[in-house]
Amino acid sequence: MSDETRTTETDQAEFLAELLAAGLLIESGVDGVYGHGEVFEFIRERLTAIVSEIAKSHGGAAKLSFPPVIPRRTLETNGYVGNFPHLAGSIFGFEGSEAQAMEQGARAAAHEDWSEFQSQTDLMMLPAACYPVYPALADRGPLDPGGVIVDIGASWVFRHEPSIDPARRQSFRMHEIVRVGEPEAVEAWRLEWSKLGVELFTELGLDAHLENANDPFFGRIGRLLAANQSAEELKWELLVPITGSEPTACASFNYHLDHFGEMWDLKLSDGGPAHTACAAFGQDRIVLALLRTHGLDPDKWPTTARLRLWG
Ligand code: 5GP
Ligand code: ZN
Repeated sequence: MSDETRTTETDQAEFLAELLAAGLLIESGVDGVYGHGEVFEFIRERLTAIVSEIAKSHGGAAKLSFPPVIPRRTLETNGYVGNFPHLAGSIFGFEGSEAQAMEQGARAAAHEDWSEFQSQTDLMMLPAACYPVYPALADRGPLDPGGVIVDIGASWVFRHEPSIDPARRQSFRMHEIVRVGEPEAVEAWRLEWSKLGVELFTELGLDAHLENANDPFFGRIGRLLAANQSAEELKWELLVPITGSEPTACASFNYHLDHFGEMWDLKLSDGGPAHTACAAFGQDRIVLALLRTHGLDPDKWPTTARLRLWG
Protein backbone atom coordinates (compact mmCIF):
# COMPACT_ATOMS: atom_id res chain seq x y z
CA MET A 1 0.00 0.00 0.00
CA SER A 2 1.42 3.40 -1.00
CA ASP A 3 1.78 6.24 1.51
CA GLU A 4 -0.84 8.16 -0.45
CA THR A 5 -3.38 5.30 -0.24
CA ARG A 6 -2.69 4.93 3.48
CA THR A 7 -3.18 8.67 4.04
CA THR A 8 -6.44 8.63 2.05
CA GLU A 9 -7.76 5.64 4.00
CA THR A 10 -6.84 7.23 7.33
CA ASP A 11 -8.52 10.45 6.24
CA GLN A 12 -11.69 8.55 5.22
CA ALA A 13 -11.80 6.51 8.42
CA GLU A 14 -11.37 9.65 10.55
CA PHE A 15 -14.08 11.58 8.68
CA LEU A 16 -16.47 8.61 8.97
CA ALA A 17 -15.80 8.38 12.72
CA GLU A 18 -16.54 12.12 13.09
CA LEU A 19 -19.80 11.83 11.13
CA LEU A 20 -20.94 8.88 13.26
CA ALA A 21 -19.91 10.53 16.52
CA ALA A 22 -21.86 13.67 15.57
CA GLY A 23 -24.98 11.59 14.75
CA LEU A 24 -24.96 12.81 11.15
CA LEU A 25 -24.68 9.21 9.95
CA ILE A 26 -25.99 6.12 11.74
CA GLU A 27 -24.03 2.88 11.54
CA SER A 28 -25.74 -0.29 10.23
CA GLY A 29 -22.95 -2.82 10.75
CA VAL A 30 -22.34 -3.10 6.98
CA ASP A 31 -19.78 -0.91 5.18
CA GLY A 32 -21.39 1.66 2.90
CA VAL A 33 -24.89 1.45 4.45
CA TYR A 34 -25.89 4.25 6.83
CA GLY A 35 -28.92 5.87 8.32
CA HIS A 36 -29.14 9.66 8.35
CA GLY A 37 -29.54 11.83 11.42
CA GLU A 38 -31.80 14.88 11.57
CA VAL A 39 -29.13 17.43 10.59
CA PHE A 40 -27.99 15.35 7.60
CA GLU A 41 -31.60 15.13 6.36
CA PHE A 42 -32.19 18.83 7.07
CA ILE A 43 -29.41 19.62 4.57
CA ARG A 44 -30.27 16.86 2.07
CA GLU A 45 -33.95 17.77 1.84
CA ARG A 46 -33.06 21.37 0.99
CA LEU A 47 -30.68 20.16 -1.74
CA THR A 48 -33.48 18.12 -3.32
CA ALA A 49 -35.82 21.08 -3.18
CA ILE A 50 -33.22 23.40 -4.74
CA VAL A 51 -32.43 21.05 -7.64
CA SER A 52 -36.18 20.73 -8.29
CA GLU A 53 -36.56 24.53 -8.12
CA ILE A 54 -33.76 24.92 -10.69
CA ALA A 55 -35.49 22.37 -12.96
CA LYS A 56 -38.79 24.22 -12.60
CA SER A 57 -37.26 27.57 -13.55
CA HIS A 58 -35.30 26.13 -16.52
CA GLY A 59 -37.94 24.76 -18.84
CA GLY A 60 -40.10 23.11 -16.18
CA ALA A 61 -40.16 19.39 -15.46
CA ALA A 62 -42.76 16.65 -15.18
CA LYS A 63 -42.48 14.88 -11.82
CA LEU A 64 -42.28 11.10 -11.90
CA SER A 65 -41.21 8.80 -9.09
CA PHE A 66 -39.99 5.20 -9.08
CA PRO A 67 -39.28 2.61 -6.36
CA PRO A 68 -35.75 1.54 -5.30
CA VAL A 69 -36.25 -1.81 -7.07
CA ILE A 70 -36.45 -2.32 -10.81
CA PRO A 71 -37.71 -5.24 -12.94
CA ARG A 72 -34.79 -7.62 -13.65
CA ARG A 73 -35.87 -7.57 -17.27
CA THR A 74 -35.13 -3.83 -17.51
CA LEU A 75 -31.50 -4.28 -16.40
CA GLU A 76 -31.13 -7.33 -18.66
CA THR A 77 -32.39 -5.31 -21.63
CA ASN A 78 -30.40 -2.13 -20.99
CA GLY A 79 -27.11 -4.02 -20.64
CA TYR A 80 -26.48 -3.23 -16.96
CA VAL A 81 -26.09 -6.89 -15.96
CA GLY A 82 -23.47 -7.41 -18.67
CA ASN A 83 -21.66 -4.10 -18.27
CA PHE A 84 -21.68 -3.74 -14.46
CA PRO A 85 -21.93 -7.29 -13.03
CA HIS A 86 -19.73 -6.23 -10.10
CA LEU A 87 -22.16 -3.48 -9.02
CA ALA A 88 -25.54 -5.10 -9.71
CA GLY A 89 -27.72 -6.25 -6.81
CA SER A 90 -30.20 -9.08 -7.52
CA ILE A 91 -33.12 -9.79 -5.22
CA PHE A 92 -33.67 -13.38 -4.17
CA GLY A 93 -36.66 -14.84 -2.34
CA PHE A 94 -37.93 -18.02 -0.68
CA GLU A 95 -40.45 -20.28 -2.38
CA GLY A 96 -39.77 -23.57 -0.59
CA SER A 97 -41.64 -26.00 1.66
CA GLU A 98 -42.39 -25.73 5.36
CA ALA A 99 -39.48 -28.05 6.16
CA GLN A 100 -37.14 -25.91 4.10
CA ALA A 101 -38.45 -22.79 5.83
CA MET A 102 -37.63 -24.38 9.20
CA GLU A 103 -34.14 -25.27 8.05
CA GLN A 104 -33.58 -21.83 6.55
CA GLY A 105 -34.80 -20.16 9.76
CA ALA A 106 -32.51 -22.28 11.92
CA ARG A 107 -29.48 -21.56 9.76
CA ALA A 108 -30.30 -17.85 9.61
CA ALA A 109 -30.66 -17.70 13.39
CA ALA A 110 -27.17 -19.23 13.69
CA HIS A 111 -25.85 -16.86 10.97
CA GLU A 112 -24.96 -19.83 8.78
CA ASP A 113 -25.32 -20.05 4.97
CA TRP A 114 -29.03 -20.29 3.94
CA SER A 115 -28.55 -19.25 0.31
CA GLU A 116 -29.50 -22.71 -1.06
CA PHE A 117 -33.15 -22.00 -0.17
CA GLN A 118 -33.22 -18.77 -2.15
CA SER A 119 -34.09 -18.29 -5.80
CA GLN A 120 -33.92 -15.29 -8.07
CA THR A 121 -36.98 -13.03 -8.26
CA ASP A 122 -38.13 -10.72 -11.04
CA LEU A 123 -36.56 -7.76 -9.24
CA MET A 124 -33.16 -6.14 -8.87
CA MET A 125 -31.98 -3.14 -6.89
CA LEU A 126 -32.20 0.14 -8.80
CA PRO A 127 -28.59 1.16 -9.68
CA ALA A 128 -29.27 4.53 -11.37
CA ALA A 129 -32.31 6.71 -10.85
CA CYS A 130 -33.04 7.39 -14.52
CA TYR A 131 -33.24 3.78 -15.82
CA PRO A 132 -37.01 3.32 -15.29
CA VAL A 133 -37.79 6.61 -17.05
CA TYR A 134 -36.96 5.57 -20.64
CA PRO A 135 -39.24 2.49 -20.92
CA ALA A 136 -41.99 4.37 -19.05
CA LEU A 137 -41.88 7.27 -21.52
CA ALA A 138 -41.67 4.92 -24.50
CA ASP A 139 -44.92 3.26 -23.38
CA ARG A 140 -46.73 6.57 -23.82
CA GLY A 141 -46.00 6.62 -27.56
CA PRO A 142 -44.07 9.22 -29.59
CA LEU A 143 -43.00 12.37 -27.74
CA ASP A 144 -44.57 15.77 -28.40
CA PRO A 145 -42.38 18.10 -30.49
CA GLY A 146 -39.67 19.54 -28.21
CA GLY A 147 -39.55 16.39 -26.08
CA VAL A 148 -39.82 16.31 -22.32
CA ILE A 149 -37.94 17.06 -19.10
CA VAL A 150 -38.54 14.79 -16.10
CA ASP A 151 -37.67 15.42 -12.45
CA ILE A 152 -37.52 12.05 -10.67
CA GLY A 153 -36.64 13.48 -7.27
CA ALA A 154 -34.25 11.81 -4.87
CA SER A 155 -34.23 8.04 -5.49
CA TRP A 156 -32.51 5.43 -3.36
CA VAL A 157 -30.05 3.53 -5.52
CA PHE A 158 -27.84 0.49 -4.83
CA ARG A 159 -24.38 -0.48 -6.03
CA HIS A 160 -22.53 -3.46 -4.60
CA GLU A 161 -19.26 -1.82 -3.62
CA PRO A 162 -18.65 -1.99 0.14
CA SER A 163 -16.09 0.59 1.27
CA ILE A 164 -14.93 2.38 4.40
CA ASP A 165 -15.01 5.66 2.49
CA PRO A 166 -18.09 7.55 3.76
CA ALA A 167 -18.46 8.96 0.21
CA ARG A 168 -18.64 5.49 -1.39
CA ARG A 169 -21.86 3.84 -0.39
CA GLN A 170 -23.78 0.74 -1.39
CA SER A 171 -27.10 2.48 -0.81
CA PHE A 172 -27.32 6.20 -1.53
CA ARG A 173 -29.60 8.90 -2.83
CA MET A 174 -29.37 10.25 -6.34
CA HIS A 175 -31.52 13.09 -7.61
CA GLU A 176 -31.82 12.98 -11.39
CA ILE A 177 -33.32 15.32 -13.92
CA VAL A 178 -33.78 13.65 -17.32
CA ARG A 179 -34.05 15.25 -20.76
CA VAL A 180 -35.52 13.38 -23.71
CA GLY A 181 -35.96 14.92 -27.16
CA GLU A 182 -34.29 16.08 -30.36
CA PRO A 183 -30.45 15.71 -30.48
CA GLU A 184 -29.52 19.43 -30.47
CA ALA A 185 -31.96 20.25 -27.66
CA VAL A 186 -30.72 17.39 -25.51
CA GLU A 187 -27.06 18.21 -26.04
CA ALA A 188 -27.65 21.89 -25.25
CA TRP A 189 -29.62 20.90 -22.14
CA ARG A 190 -26.73 18.80 -20.82
CA LEU A 191 -24.33 21.71 -21.30
CA GLU A 192 -26.75 24.06 -19.57
CA TRP A 193 -27.15 21.71 -16.57
CA SER A 194 -23.40 21.24 -16.21
CA LYS A 195 -23.14 25.05 -15.90
CA LEU A 196 -26.09 25.20 -13.49
CA GLY A 197 -24.36 22.51 -11.41
CA VAL A 198 -21.10 24.47 -11.23
CA GLU A 199 -23.06 27.62 -10.35
CA LEU A 200 -24.98 25.91 -7.55
CA PHE A 201 -21.89 24.28 -6.04
CA THR A 202 -20.01 27.59 -6.20
CA GLU A 203 -22.88 29.40 -4.47
CA LEU A 204 -22.71 26.73 -1.77
CA GLY A 205 -19.03 27.57 -1.25
CA LEU A 206 -17.75 24.27 -2.67
CA ASP A 207 -14.47 24.08 -4.56
CA ALA A 208 -15.96 22.37 -7.64
CA HIS A 209 -14.70 21.72 -11.15
CA LEU A 210 -15.99 19.77 -14.14
CA GLU A 211 -14.05 16.92 -15.73
CA ASN A 212 -14.59 14.49 -18.55
CA ALA A 213 -15.11 11.01 -17.05
CA ASN A 214 -16.30 7.46 -17.71
CA ASP A 215 -18.38 4.81 -15.97
CA PRO A 216 -16.64 1.85 -14.25
CA PHE A 217 -17.52 -0.77 -16.90
CA PHE A 218 -16.40 -4.31 -15.97
CA GLY A 219 -13.39 -6.14 -17.38
CA ARG A 220 -11.37 -5.91 -20.59
CA ILE A 221 -14.29 -5.14 -22.90
CA GLY A 222 -15.42 -2.64 -20.30
CA ARG A 223 -12.15 -0.76 -20.65
CA LEU A 224 -12.90 -0.29 -24.34
CA LEU A 225 -16.43 0.94 -23.59
CA ALA A 226 -15.04 3.36 -21.00
CA ALA A 227 -12.41 4.66 -23.45
CA ASN A 228 -15.13 5.21 -26.04
CA GLN A 229 -17.37 7.03 -23.57
CA SER A 230 -14.46 9.23 -22.60
CA ALA A 231 -13.43 9.98 -26.20
CA GLU A 232 -17.00 10.99 -27.07
CA GLU A 233 -17.26 13.15 -23.90
CA LEU A 234 -20.50 11.46 -22.91
CA LYS A 235 -19.95 11.80 -19.14
CA TRP A 236 -18.91 14.94 -17.28
CA GLU A 237 -18.43 14.87 -13.54
CA LEU A 238 -18.55 17.71 -11.06
CA LEU A 239 -15.74 17.03 -8.61
CA VAL A 240 -15.31 18.40 -5.08
CA PRO A 241 -12.59 17.56 -2.52
CA ILE A 242 -14.01 15.47 0.36
CA THR A 243 -11.28 13.17 1.69
CA GLY A 244 -7.85 12.13 0.42
CA SER A 245 -5.88 13.73 -2.40
CA GLU A 246 -8.40 13.08 -5.22
CA PRO A 247 -11.64 15.06 -5.47
CA THR A 248 -14.94 13.11 -5.47
CA ALA A 249 -17.67 13.12 -8.16
CA CYS A 250 -20.70 14.79 -6.57
CA ALA A 251 -22.78 15.12 -9.74
CA SER A 252 -22.64 13.84 -13.31
CA PHE A 253 -24.04 15.12 -16.60
CA ASN A 254 -24.52 12.27 -19.03
CA TYR A 255 -25.43 12.26 -22.73
CA HIS A 256 -26.57 8.88 -24.03
CA LEU A 257 -27.02 9.92 -27.70
CA ASP A 258 -29.82 7.70 -29.13
CA HIS A 259 -28.70 4.66 -27.07
CA PHE A 260 -31.82 4.49 -24.86
CA GLY A 261 -34.05 5.87 -27.64
CA GLU A 262 -33.14 2.92 -29.89
CA MET A 263 -33.14 0.39 -27.07
CA TRP A 264 -36.62 1.24 -25.76
CA ASP A 265 -38.15 2.38 -29.06
CA LEU A 266 -38.57 5.82 -27.54
CA LYS A 267 -39.58 7.98 -30.49
CA LEU A 268 -39.57 11.66 -31.39
CA SER A 269 -42.69 13.24 -32.87
CA ASP A 270 -41.25 12.59 -36.36
CA GLY A 271 -40.72 8.88 -35.60
CA GLY A 272 -36.91 9.07 -35.21
CA PRO A 273 -35.19 7.74 -32.07
CA ALA A 274 -35.14 10.21 -29.16
CA HIS A 275 -31.84 11.36 -27.70
CA THR A 276 -31.53 11.36 -23.92
CA ALA A 277 -29.39 12.95 -21.22
CA CYS A 278 -29.46 13.12 -17.44
CA ALA A 279 -28.11 15.33 -14.68
CA ALA A 280 -27.45 13.17 -11.60
CA PHE A 281 -26.82 14.85 -8.24
CA GLY A 282 -25.30 12.54 -5.62
CA GLN A 283 -27.09 13.97 -2.64
CA ASP A 284 -25.19 12.20 0.11
CA ARG A 285 -21.88 13.21 -1.41
CA ILE A 286 -22.95 16.85 -1.72
CA VAL A 287 -23.97 16.84 1.97
CA LEU A 288 -20.57 15.32 2.86
CA ALA A 289 -18.76 17.89 0.71
CA LEU A 290 -20.60 20.68 2.57
CA LEU A 291 -19.86 19.16 5.99
CA ARG A 292 -16.21 18.65 5.08
CA THR A 293 -15.78 22.14 3.60
CA HIS A 294 -17.74 24.19 6.14
CA GLY A 295 -17.69 21.98 9.26
CA LEU A 296 -20.17 19.64 10.92
CA ASP A 297 -22.47 22.35 12.31
CA PRO A 298 -24.59 24.08 9.62
CA ASP A 299 -25.31 26.93 12.07
CA LYS A 300 -21.65 27.91 11.69
CA TRP A 301 -21.49 27.72 7.89
CA PRO A 302 -20.71 30.85 5.84
CA THR A 303 -23.73 33.14 5.42
CA THR A 304 -23.72 32.85 1.62
CA ALA A 305 -24.03 29.05 1.73
CA ARG A 306 -26.70 29.25 4.45
CA LEU A 307 -28.66 31.81 2.45
CA ARG A 308 -28.54 29.70 -0.73
CA LEU A 309 -29.85 26.69 1.18
CA TRP A 310 -32.34 28.17 3.62
CA GLY A 311 -32.98 31.66 2.22
P1 5GP B 1 -23.09 8.00 -11.73
O1 5GP B 1 -24.32 7.38 -12.29
O2 5GP B 1 -22.59 9.16 -12.52
O3 5GP B 1 -22.04 7.01 -11.38
O4 5GP B 1 -23.55 8.57 -10.31
C1 5GP B 1 -24.27 9.77 -10.20
C2 5GP B 1 -23.88 10.44 -8.93
O5 5GP B 1 -24.21 9.58 -7.82
C3 5GP B 1 -22.37 10.67 -8.80
O6 5GP B 1 -21.96 11.85 -9.40
C4 5GP B 1 -22.21 10.72 -7.30
O7 5GP B 1 -22.48 12.00 -6.82
C5 5GP B 1 -23.25 9.75 -6.80
N1 5GP B 1 -22.60 8.49 -6.46
C6 5GP B 1 -22.04 7.59 -7.31
N2 5GP B 1 -21.50 6.57 -6.61
C7 5GP B 1 -21.71 6.83 -5.30
C8 5GP B 1 -21.38 6.16 -4.09
O8 5GP B 1 -20.77 5.10 -4.07
N3 5GP B 1 -21.76 6.75 -2.94
C9 5GP B 1 -22.45 7.91 -2.90
N4 5GP B 1 -22.79 8.42 -1.70
N5 5GP B 1 -22.77 8.58 -4.02
C10 5GP B 1 -22.40 8.05 -5.21
ZN1 ZN C 1 -29.05 8.96 -15.36
